[in-house]
Amino acid sequence: MSTLLEVRNLKKHYPIRKGFFSKQVGAVKAVDGITLSVEQGETLAVVGESGCGKSTTGRAILRLIEPTEGEIMFNGTDVRSLNTEQLRRFRTDMQMVFQDPYASLDPRWTVQRILEEPLRTHGSAASSGELKSRVEQLMEVVGLSPYQAHRFPHEFSGGQRQRIGIARALALNPKFIVCDEPVSALDVSIQAQVLNLMQDLQEQYGLTYMFISHDLSVVKFISDRVAVMYLGRVVELAPTKELFAKPLHPYTQALMSAVPVPNPGQKKQRIVLTGDVPNPETPPSGCAFHPRCPYAMDRCKSEAPALRTLDTGHQVSCHLY
Ligand code: ADP
Ligand code: MG
Repeated sequence: MSTLLEVRNLKKHYPIRKGFFSKQVGAVKAVDGITLSVEQGETLAVVGESGCGKSTTGRAILRLIEPTEGEIMFNGTDVRSLNTEQLRRFRTDMQMVFQDPYASLDPRWTVQRILEEPLRTHGSAASSGELKSRVEQLMEVVGLSPYQAHRFPHEFSGGQRQRIGIARALALNPKFIVCDEPVSALDVSIQAQVLNLMQDLQEQYGLTYMFISHDLSVVKFISDRVAVMYLGRVVELAPTKELFAKPLHPYTQALMSAVPVPNPGQKKQRIVLTGDVPNPETPPSGCAFHPRCPYAMDRCKSEAPALRTLDTGHQVSCHLY
C-alpha cells in the first residue's frame, strides 16, 4: 500500500474579533495540530462529538478553507503551495460529499445542469452530446435513472439527493473524496443503501475516502482505520477492528459505551461522559479531556500527552499508556 495523503500538524484557528477596530481578542482552535496519513484505496474514518473539528479538518485538507498552519502532501504535491489556478486543476483529484444534500445542491438547477457544471468548468467534455452522455453515465453509476436528468433536487428523496451529490463528486474522476457525514441526514433504512453504494464505487474506481461521522456504527461498517478526534486533535488512531476490540483512550471508551451493544448478554463497563465538550476558545490545560476523564491524574492537568505509536501500531495520546 502506498500513502496518498499525509497531513502534518494541521491547524485552523478562527480569530475572534471584538469592538470597533475589530481587534483580535482570541482564537477558536477548531483544529489544533492534526497529524495523520491516508493510504491509497482505504477508508479512514474521523469520529468525535459535534464541534470537535471534523468538518474543519476535511475542508482544510481540500483547501476549501485556508489552514492556519501545517503540511498537506497529496500524491507527492504540497497542497498548501498551490496557487489558485493550480488548485483549480488539482480539485479534479479531491472532492467532497456533504452532509446535507438539500443545502449543497442548487434548488434552481436540474440534475443535468448540476452534474454538467464540474465538467464544464474543468473543460473535460466539450460538446453538448458528450456532456449529456457523461451525465447519463454518472446517473447510472449511482443508481438513478437517466430519464430523471431534467428534474430538480426537490423532486427526489433524501437518499436519491445524496446519490446526486455523490455523482457530482465523481464527475471528474477523483482519487480522493472527503465524505462529511454523508448519511447522517438520512433515514436509517436508507443509510445502508447509500453506504453500500459508496463501497461499491470505491472498489470500482479505486477511490480513497476520508469518512467523517459522529456515528460509530456507521464507522464500524465502512472504515478500515479510525481516527478519534477530541477538541481539534487526534486522541487515538487504529485499524477499525483493533479500535472496536480494544479502545485505549478513555474518550474512545466513553464514546463506545454510549453505543448500544448488539449482544445484550455481553456486559460492558460503562463510562459516562460527564459535562459538556469544552469551548475550543479556552481549551483545558494539559490533556484537553482531563476534566471529563474518570482516570485523570495530576499530570494530566499540566502536561498534554503526545500521540504515541505503540508496538501494535495503535496510536494513542494518553498518559495511561
Ligand atoms: P464538527 O464538524 O466536528 O462538528 P467543526 O469543524 O464544524 O466541528 O467545528 C469545530 C469548531 O470550530 C466548533 O467550535 C465551531 O464552532 C468552530 N467553527 C467552525 N467554523 C467556524 C467559523 N467559520 N468561524 C468560527 N468558528 C468556527
Ligand atoms: Mg461537521
